[in-house]
Amino acid sequence: MQNDIQEILYDERQIGEKVKELGETLTKDFSGRNPLVICVLKGAFIFMADLVKEIKVPLEIDFMAVSSYGASTKSSGVVKIIKDLDVSVEGRDVLIVEDIIDSGLTLTYLIDVLERRNAKSVTVVTLFDKPARRTVDLQADYKGFTLPDEFVVGYGLDYAEKYRNLPYIGILKPQVYEK
Ligand code: 5GP
Ligand code: MG
Ligand code: MG
Repeated sequence: MQNDIQEILYDERQIGEKVKELGETLTKDFSGRNPLVICVLKGAFIFMADLVKEIKVPLEIDFMAVSSYGASTKSSGVVKIIKDLDVSVEGRDVLIVEDIIDSGLTLTYLIDVLERRNAKSVTVVTLFDKPARRTVDLQADYKGFTLPDEFVVGYGLDYAEKYRNLPYIGILKPQVYEK
């Protein structure tokens, strides 16, 4: 598995420090509120688990799964809800937890859905951002690291469902998906 990684961009310690920092900021900004924290499956599951431990306000969590790239490294542009939330977002301060923003299509769609369901506010935190590939005008409210235009895996992010368990984020060798 390690042999398929071209370069480690951020290791476990660096990610841990960043997640703690984001948690401290979110603790301040959400103080006095009771956010509904939504994990966008599957890629954000590790970030979500680590992040909520650092947000020191009462909160609730829920999960949503949307169609992703499948076994491809490019977005199809078509977003579909595969697993919806269990609870209503009406009147709630919602915090969307994403792993990475690439084209921005997934999040644009999600924000629109949650706003149409009358969330009180919709805030986005993403651990990784690839601004070079954006096709829509969208910015996360909070972000961890800005990444180069490369396909990355690890810390929850997959290629064909593999590599999610790597504790770091790294660039996948193109040979892996080009063969
Ligand atoms: P977008 O809709 O912004 O193009 O893509 C968002 C989703 O595609 C992310 O939440 C993530 O699941 C997946 N994705 C985007 N870039 C990468 C990448 O470099 N590596 C992996 N493994 N997934 C990515
Ligand atoms: Mg995602
Ligand atoms: Mg994926």
